Order: sequence, then structure tokens, then C-alpha cells
Amino acid sequence: MLIVMESRATEEQTEKVIKFIKQKGFDAHVSKGEDHTVIGAVGRKVIDKRDIELLSGVKEVIRITSPYKLVSRVFKPEDTIIELKGVKIGGGNTAMIAGPCSVESYEQVDSTAKKLAGYGVKILRGGAFKPRTSPYAFQGLGEEGLKILREVADKYDMLVTSEVMEVSQIPMFLKYVDILQVGARNMQNFNLLKSLGEIRKPVLLKRGLSAMIEELLMSAEYIMAGGNREVILCERGIRTFEHITRNTLDLSAIPVIQKISHLPIVVDPSHATGLRDKVAPMSKAAIAAGADGLIIEVHNSPDTALCDGAQSLYPEQFAELYEELKALAVVLKKKIC
Ligand code: PEP
Ligand code: MN
Repeated sequence: MLIVMESRATEEQTEKVIKFIKQKGFDAHVSKGEDHTVIGAVGRKVIDKRDIELLSGVKEVIRITSPYKLVSRVFKPEDTIIELKGVKIGGGNTAMIAGPCSVESYEQVDSTAKKLAGYGVKILRGGAFKPRTSPYAFQGLGEEGLKILREVADKYDMLVTSEVMEVSQIPMFLKYVDILQVGARNMQNFNLLKSLGEIRKPVLLKRGLSAMIEELLMSAEYIMAGGNREVILCERGIRTFEHITRNTLDLSAIPVIQKISHLPIVVDPSHATGLRDKVAPMSKAAIAAGADGLIIEVHNSPDTALCDGAQSLYPEQFAELYEELKALAVVLKKKIC
């Protein structure tokens, strides 16, 4: 951290700042310039930079090291590739995750998954515990939904991801799913993140509705700090002043994150746009921007879906998009599965 003193700052003020940062466990390296004295604070301790900004004589405090370590490319320069039963995510491997918003019945999941597997999709999605804005909306089938997902996935030789909403559900999820999803509304549920750090299964961490990229990375840091190194980030749109789409898909998050972090990042164009006809263009844009995968809602009968029908693709629509994405992957020299 660099502390720039005001040009009018007195020796006494500078000494007070040095004493303060030393008390906090930092070494102080002082450099006296013509106009300003700059103090370099070196150390591993966490400090609130506002505490220094408030000291008299301080002009500016500049953080030069990032607050995240394990998620950073500085710590691990090469891309993290997550591999599950031969399916790879990251490092030029683009993964397709598809399925309904929610598990509604065995027949619904079975008929959707049968088609998806036929198109070549390897990872099935579906919510069994649903975070709904209204307590009166369909809340999911709970453990019964997880059982359906596992049974159907095994039938078609697929992997499964589903959203875990609270710490107490983790042991149950470990029995049924291959990738545990953390929903946007839970991105900063720190107890949940810490507990997911203790497991040894991949976590798909969705960006919060109003979360900054740095906050998403810090949430991933929580999981990794617990020892779980398999985190997949997910950009799913953020809340802005724009209302035509459900959220605003921040595609710039992809290159930004890929520069800072080695973790794979996938894109959810379904929740980002909320509108079926916007899913295909944004899927293509996401792949073109370098996404390591997509998570897309597909329903065997979107018109009768209990949740998010308007943003769910018809299976045939998905099939057409998937073919286009495969062609795009060839141009981009990426593998898609
Ligand atoms: C979901 O993927 O089922 C979901 C609820 O998405 P999000 O948490 O991004 O809103
Ligand atoms: Mn949904």
C-alpha cells in the first residue's frame, strides 16, 4: 500500500502515520520526493485503508496488491481446468450446461434430458430448492427433486448441477450432485461459502445481482481459502437501470476476470436476459468473448413451466443454437462439449 502525504504535511504528521502502520503490523518504507513524501506500507495484514485516509496530512492511500490471493493469476498463472468424468471446464474447454429452471416432475426432467443428451450435452442443470422472490411461488421439490436429477442424469450418462441454498443442505447435495451451485442471492452468504470450502466437489458460484467483480472474486476466495480449489465463476447479469431485459449481461466481466484470475468463468444468458429470444445472440457473444461455458435454461414445455418459462428455450431451439456454437468454437480454436 502506498500512502501519499499532502505537500504541506509536517514531519510530525508523517511520523504519526509511520507509527500507526507499524502498530498495525506493517513495515514502513519512506521516500521523500520534491512535493510529496510517500510511505510504502509492506505487510500481509489486512487493514481498512480508510483508517489511514483519516489521519491528518494524508492525501491518498493507494492499494497496490489485490485483496484476493488464491483466485489470482499471480498465485497460479495457468488456467484452472476442472475435470469431471472426462468433461473439462476451463483452459480452452468450453462446457455446455443445460436443463430446466426447476425440477417439476420425473417426466419433465426425463423428457428434457433425453433430448439434451441426444444433442451431446454432458451437464444437466435443474433447481430442486428455489430461491423465489415470492414465498407463494413454486419453491421446488426439495430432496425429491435432487433424486430425480440424479436418476435421470445416470440414465443418460450426464453430470448434474443444482443450487444449494444453505449450509445444512450440503451433505444431502453431496449424495446427488456433481457440481454445487451457489445462486446470485447467496453469493455473499459467507457461512455457506466457508462450508463449501471444506468439500471436495466443484462449486459454480454465480455473481450477485449487484455484486462488483472484485466481490465475486472475494467470494471465490472464501471457498478456496477453505481448501476447495474447484470454483467455476458465473456471470449471470447484474441489476442496472435498464428494464427491458431482466438483468444486464456484463460480458466485459469475462476478459476482466480472465486477466485477474485463473478460474473458469461461464455465462448464464437465460437469467441475464430473461427473454427466450435474447438467449441465442448473447450465448454466441459470450463464447466469442471467451467464456469457458454456458448455463442455459431449456424446458420440454416452456409454456407450462412452473418457473422461468419465458426465458427457457424449446429443446429444438437449443439444438439449433448448440450447432451454431459448435461452429463458432471451431473458428475460435476451442473445444466445446
Ligand atoms: C438458477 O440458476 O436457477 C438461478 C436461480 O439463477 P440466479 O441465482 O443467477 O438468479
Ligand atoms: Mn431460472
